[in-house]
Amino acid sequence: MPIYEYICPDCKTKFELIRPISRCGESAECPKCKHQAGRALSSFCCRSGNESRVTAPIAGGGGCAGCGGGSCSSCGG
Ligand SMILES: [Zn+2]
Repeated sequence: MPIYEYICPDCKTKFELIRPISRCGESAECPKCKHQAGRALSSFCCRSGNESRVTAPIAGGGGCAGCGGGSCSSCGG
């Protein structure tokens, strides 16, 4: 199963969870303050080994940094 990165909006704690793709859009409980944390927007999910072509994340976009909010087989966006 893939690893997803989450960031807590309250205490800014970053943590990773291994969960099925079907649940990647769900929030996760912060291990520190127990608040609900959303998925972090990072290039992590689309890291394909071509680091030099990673684009900047689009604020509010549904996709990841690697796919720029478009269709992406890696993140499901
Ligand atoms: Zn927290």
